[in-house]
Amino acid sequence: MSMANTHCTDHVVGEILASWRFDISGLSPEMRKDYEHHLVECEFCRGRQSFHRSLDGTLAALTTLAAVFFLFALAVLKHVKPFEHVAFNVLGLDVVSMYQMLISAGIAGLCFSLIALVLVLTTTPAPSYLGGLAAERAKSIEERLPAAIKSFRLR
Ligand SMILES: [Zn+2]
Repeated sequence: MSMANTHCTDHVVGEILASWRFDISGLSPEMRKDYEHHLVECEFCRGRQSFHRSLDGTLAALTTLAAVFFLFALAVLKHVKPFEHVAFNVLGLDVVSMYQMLISAGIAGLCFSLIALVLVLTTTPAPSYLGGLAAERAKSIEERLPAAIKSFRLR
């Protein structure tokens, strides 16, 4: 029993689960049964499953927070006038270019965090409609892609 925490009890099932990041929410109930059974008896996989789920939750929360932060920054930039005085009097910068620089930084940050959020929501079971089967199918298609296409896509 002392080994249960560090080793998977069934490596074949364990590796399949790992390739799905321990997300079986997209499987049909009959298919899910075997994996659920393994998760019940295998402490190792259960631990990794909860780790992946908390990771998903953390990522979704962080990217949402980042998007909110950049939205807030843009809202502040639009309304706070003292910013312009600081830029003009203290820093001696051209007000318009300073303002545009901050706005475009805010927009870039917002876009980046929204893309990150979409990636998190599409690659994790957060919205688990397509789930493991779709991911597995995409993975098997990707494995059949010629190496040239694969390296192009990774860039
Ligand atoms: Zn296992």
